[in-house]
Amino acid sequence: MRHGRPAVVARLRRDTYTNLRQVEASHVDCPRDPAGFPRSASDVMANEDSVPELPEVETVRRGLQPVMEGATIADVTLRRPDLRLPLPERFAERLAGRGIDHLGRRAKYLLAELDDGTTLAIHLGMSGSMRIEAADDATADARARVPGAFLFPRSTTLTHDHVVFHLKDGPSGPATIVFNDPRRFGLMTLIEPGGMETHPLFRHLGIEPTGNALSGEALARLFAGKAAPLKAALLDQRLIAGLGNIYVCEALWRARLSPRRAAGSLVTRDGKATKRLEALALSVRETIADAIAAGGSTLKDYRQADGSLGYFQHSFAVYGREGEACRHENCRGIISRIVQSGRSTFFCPICQR
Ligand SMILES: [Zn+2]
Repeated sequence: MRHGRPAVVARLRRDTYTNLRQVEASHVDCPRDPAGFPRSASDVMANEDSVPELPEVETVRRGLQPVMEGATIADVTLRRPDLRLPLPERFAERLAGRGIDHLGRRAKYLLAELDDGTTLAIHLGMSGSMRIEAADDATADARARVPGAFLFPRSTTLTHDHVVFHLKDGPSGPATIVFNDPRRFGLMTLIEPGGMETHPLFRHLGIEPTGNALSGEALARLFAGKAAPLKAALLDQRLIAGLGNIYVCEALWRARLSPRRAAGSLVTRDGKATKRLEALALSVRETIADAIAAGGSTLKDYRQADGSLGYFQHSFAVYGREGEACRHENCRGIISRIVQSGRSTFFCPICQR
């Protein structure tokens, strides 16, 4: 489901639960920019796909983990009462003094598990980033130290710093984590102990595309009888959580499957995965794993990790390559761009069947 900038959602001041239900209904990962009709493929991509993809979020997590895990939140400064949605009531008070036991991830949410069983969930939205400032490091230069490798540059404009976490007693000493988000599509919420399964943001999320859960067998269950094109099925967050436009294009190209093919056509009559569906499961996992590895290689030390360059861009085989030769060996195809469900699909019409 597509929609413009959800000013309606942001304006709402009803209870948070109602608001979260609306975010859930509108798919938090599909913001659209209604301003300006896209003129070129790169405009299309800048509008549609500047949302961090799962590998980018995972890279951010890995960059923050050494600083956040084991630290205590001394206090939290809120520079405004809301992001995409209002922040939870007494947000800063509830976080102050809490230890961070673990920094995990589900789909594109960062999940900080706190020592009272509460989980702080953070979504970067379209333009959000987390900046680390070490205590001994209050120079202007430090502003650029954004862990992660983003496809699109992150803002370092201080007026977009909305939430500031002051950490103490962490393994890397006192540190400040700054959430910067010019467009304020980001989201932060607190989840009660044991509440993940039933939480409106998480209860309908599908399987993770990163591990063994994503098998041919699992895809056969999800795709059986589905007439929807593979592209749409793979983007459906209720089936697979956190998979976005770019890596769906890449995975389909790897598996040499047409994005237009009906998802159900890869399932046998008795509900088993065909060989091609097994190959797709593997392609999805490998595509994501390779992207995470590429992002991770920028994270030797968060002090060197600078999110301002489009690091991942060079590794795309098909995404953004309209008009270029297909990179599969012995294929003479030229990459095409079509629009499916309002998103650009890049594919090779010759080898992707
Ligand atoms: Zn090809």
